[in-house]
Amino acid sequence: MVFTMMANIQSKLFWVLLGFLAIGMYYPLIGLVALVCMFAPVAFSFAKGRYWCGNFCPRGSFYDHVASRFSPQKPIPAFFKSTPFRVFALLFVMGMFGSQMYYAWGSAEAMGAVIIRVIFATTIVGIVLSLLFHQRTWCSFCPMGTISAWVSSARKPMPLLVSEACVGCRLCTKACPLQLRPY
Ligand code: SF4
Repeated sequence: MVFTMMANIQSKLFWVLLGFLAIGMYYPLIGLVALVCMFAPVAFSFAKGRYWCGNFCPRGSFYDHVASRFSPQKPIPAFFKSTPFRVFALLFVMGMFGSQMYYAWGSAEAMGAVIIRVIFATTIVGIVLSLLFHQRTWCSFCPMGTISAWVSSARKPMPLLVSEACVGCRLCTKACPLQLRPY
């Protein structure tokens, strides 16, 4: 029941992303609201791992319910999941974000515009990767997802428990948006 309700909510959250970007083009101040989406994944990760990524992230919802329709659903290349690439992506995106924020500092509107630009640019990268590989390729190295993964594994490792009743049919991997392989 709760799971179904959460899934229903998650399947609609992409409208938040689309509405945010559309409004943000005319009212950049709204970009500041997206700070919630930057810090919430990490805040959740202290207690519940990457719960935000699977349930509340509007961009995750966009990849799952919009980009997936056009994605060839290929395996996500291991390169994107490697630690060196994730560290590079984290430093690159945060470096770009930090330097733009430095120049925008003091003007709420300019700071909001920076956030909208970063979200727009990274969403485009995610869409291209969706079309080339899999809809959640971006999530393999998304800076906030990476920080969340590191925090949760440092605080409270959450091993994936597989029931002894597992028959290795691999349907779980087909259903998992992040291409985990529990079997
Ligand atoms: S990895 Fe990033 S884009 Fe993907 S669901 Fe998590 S916070 Fe959202």
